[in-house]
Parts: sequence; C-alpha cells; structure tokens
Amino acid sequence: MTNRNSSSSNMYDVKGHLQTVLDSLPAGVRLVAISKYHPNEYIEAAYELGQRIFGESHEQELRGKHEALPKDIQWHFIGHLQTNKVKYIAPYVTMIEAVDSLKLLKEIDKQAARCGRVIDVLLELHIAEEETKYGLAPDALRQLLAGGEWRQLQHVRICGLMMMASYVDDEAQIRAEFQLAHSLFDEVKQQYFADADYFCERSWGMSHDYLIAVQEGSTMVRIGTTIFGPRVY
Ligand SMILES: *Cc1c(COP(=O)(O)O)cnc(C)c1O
Repeated sequence: MTNRNSSSSNMYDVKGHLQTVLDSLPAGVRLVAISKYHPNEYIEAAYELGQRIFGESHEQELRGKHEALPKDIQWHFIGHLQTNKVKYIAPYVTMIEAVDSLKLLKEIDKQAARCGRVIDVLLELHIAEEETKYGLAPDALRQLLAGGEWRQLQHVRICGLMMMASYVDDEAQIRAEFQLAHSLFDEVKQQYFADADYFCERSWGMSHDYLIAVQEGSTMVRIGTTIFGPRVY
C-alpha cells in the first residue's frame, strides 16, 4: 500500500494540474485520466478530487491497479490489446477504446459473454501520417461495418470512434485529422447507428492537442502528461 502522508509533500501536484485541465474542458466533454506508468498514489490524488475514469494501456499494470484501488474507478483500456489478454480484463474493464479488428471484437464478445457482461468499445481509426500497425484506415472501418458480422455480437456495444492525431506541431494538420475523424463518425452514425443513442463517443485529444480536439467535437479526451507529469518508463 502507498503511504499518502509520507509522500504527499514531494509529490507532483496532480490535483492542481487535474483541476486546471478540468477547468479548461467544456461541459459534456469527459476526461479519461491516462495513468499508465504512474504510481497508485497519483491516481489516488486524482480520485480524491473526484476523477473516476482512468486509462491504462498494459494489461498487467492495469490488473495491479484495479486490484489495489477503489472499485468504483472506471477503467478504460486505451492501448493495443492482444486477443489473448482480453480474458484478463473482461471481468471488470469499463471500456476498450482501441478495437481495430473484427477478430478482437469477436474475442471481446466471447469473453464478455463468459462474464455475463456487455462491454463498451470504441473502434480505433487510423488517420495520422505516422506509420503504425494499429487502427483502422477509413476504408477498413467501412469494410468492417459493411461486413455486418459485428451485428451478431450481443456482448459488445460499439459506442463510437477513437483516434490519435499525428504527433506534429502543425495545428492545421491536427485539426484536419480531427475533422476527418468527425466526418467519419457522422457517416458511420447515420449509416449504422442512427437509432443507437449509445453510439455517441468521439475519443480524441491528448495532452498536446486536446484543446484543438474539443473544438473539433471530441466528447472524451485522454490526457496523461498534463495531469501526472512525464512518465518514467
Ligand atoms: C499515452 C496515451 C495518451 C495520453 O498521452 P499524453 O500525451 O500523456 O496525454 C492518450 N491516448 C493514448 C492511446 C495513449 O496511449
């Protein structure tokens, strides 16, 4: 267990930074505090200020934190998830944000069924210029949905889209990527989820670009460094 009293004096000012972020978010935008690589006491400080949604990207780290920390924390899995790890987080995870294949979607469905749960997920879009193996390009997203197999999955609920913009200084480029993501959201919403109120989440915006993201219609920002300081890997 962490000892709040002995460590609080030289602890990074999590509460102050969290409050600043919260004050800068418009009503209706939810904050996922990205706590990966940060110690439990940082999460506890944010929790004391009322924060309940936290994001992690590694299964084992998440498992340890879930076991140690208050049970009303809503954990979002934000990283690339290997199918063989789904079973470990299925019993308790609130949302899996970065689903980028039908295979993963099916595995989440299977493990959620075993737990008697329905797990909320987001489909991860890949728009950024950076080469990465992860995320669905716009046409891959369209294909996955057009395929229709996802409709049979009773234990996952597709709640929206998630994406990361290019890590660049060019604000116009970042903004254009968010706008493209938003237009894809609208397209998919209209075509497949027009009657589904739960399909409403646009998860974009990180420490360096979240103010642009909220201007471009983000409903959920994922912020780590600005709240908790630099990560120690
Ligand atoms: C680490 C991470 C974040 C938070 O990044 P910061 O720059 O620390 O705010 C957001 N989203 C994803 C998917 C991440 O992996």
